[in-house]
Amino acid sequence: MISRIFYPQEEKGIELMMDFELTEENRIFRDAIREFARKEIAPLVDQAEETGVFPRQLFRKMGEQGFLCPRYPLELGGGGGDKVTECILVEELNRINSGIGAALMAQAGLATQPLYRYGSDAQKEKFLVPAIKGEKIGSFALTEPNVGSDAASLQTRAVRDGDSYVINGTKMFITNGPICDYVIVAASTNPAKKAEGISLFIVEKGTPGFQVSKKLNKVGNRSAETAELVFEDCRIPAENMIGTSEGRGFNQIADTLLSGRITYGARCTGTAQAAYELTVQYAKERVQFGKPIIQFQNTRFKLAEMATYIDIMRSYTHRVARMYDHGINVRKEASMVKLFTAETLQTILSYSMQIHGGYGYMMEYPIQRHWRDGRLYTVTEGTSEIQRLVIGKELGL
Ligand SMILES: Cc1cc2nc3c(=O)[nH]c(=O)nc-3n(C[C@H](O)[C@H](O)[C@H](O)COP(=O)(O)OP(=O)(O)OC[C@H]3O[C@@H](n4cnc5c(N)ncnc54)[C@H](O)[C@@H]3O)c2cc1C
Repeated sequence: MISRIFYPQEEKGIELMMDFELTEENRIFRDAIREFARKEIAPLVDQAEETGVFPRQLFRKMGEQGFLCPRYPLELGGGGGDKVTECILVEELNRINSGIGAALMAQAGLATQPLYRYGSDAQKEKFLVPAIKGEKIGSFALTEPNVGSDAASLQTRAVRDGDSYVINGTKMFITNGPICDYVIVAASTNPAKKAEGISLFIVEKGTPGFQVSKKLNKVGNRSAETAELVFEDCRIPAENMIGTSEGRGFNQIADTLLSGRITYGARCTGTAQAAYELTVQYAKERVQFGKPIIQFQNTRFKLAEMATYIDIMRSYTHRVARMYDHGINVRKEASMVKLFTAETLQTILSYSMQIHGGYGYMMEYPIQRHWRDGRLYTVTEGTSEIQRLVIGKELGL
């Protein structure tokens, strides 16, 4: 149990901070998903990392148990939980494997939230409900080869033609792109209007003109499948636009990314927790100068610092998730969560690698995988620099 590693005092009856902050439902969910991840996901990790092929059966398996999208209502097939529940899910998945966590997290957030919040009844029935159940895999395509942080300048175009839209453009770095049944594509119907000309469109796999042009070879998160997608005169029904009128896409994207930034706190915490656990274990086993290196004060100081950071990462993530659940505007705090947890994780991973010495640099030691995986987190879903910009703006600086 994490808590035993974190808080050996628990045995002496001292209340756990983490448990203290969770509801009974949260705790039950955490224990269930932790057990599921240990039994059903952990045995799949090595092969998925080696082959770069995501174990797709997990979508259905998790969907059947309400684990895939735990935040959505029961009547849609979700878990009936809240944002904190989703954070618990993501932390537990990332403790086991970041790549698998990424694919499932994209389904629970990016690929479903725009449909849940803004989709028509028909779109919900056709795409959202099957996605929540794991019968359809979704992805979300905002980034382009020439447009990353400056999303309002995207170059993909959607032109209305009778009862259709015709989409042209290229999307880059799309999680689940190679395996998706549908993709939510950000495109402009009116480039002169910049952000206010952007809308979101659902494109189904098999639509003529839509192709996965390249599966990308990544440094980390290798078990998540990532692609470049090309849309060439790709004609979709007009009813596949999300929202009641053109030009609403940028707000829908902002709303989706805000929620994702909170989830990212959990993603960083899960990877940090895994790195911490591996490092404690290694430091107990590695003997130098006649004693386990955990007995050197330097090692214990670093581990103490790591444990402190992780507790703050988790508590702050849950606090902001709770605020989100209460409908509070957390635009500033969501960026603070993403910035703080992703940057602090870099320190934690650096300490972990240092304590592992030369063995940490060897592929057979699992710490290197977390180091490679976690390096991504200051970049995706808004870089640290973009988070600083948002925080500064919200502070009125
Ligand atoms: C593995 C992976 C999975 C991904 N999954 C998806 C996905 O599913 N869907 C999707 O749409 N996208 C996805 N992305 C894209 C990701 O969100 C972008 O990489 C990210 O938004 C940054 O864009 P960029 O890479 O083009 O960097 P750029 O925007 O080119 O930034 C390069 C550098 O310049 C800095 N910079 C840029 N603008 C400013 C500024 N105004 N002030 C200060 N510094 C600035 C950045 O912070 C960064 O350090 C994924 C990326 C990766 C690597």
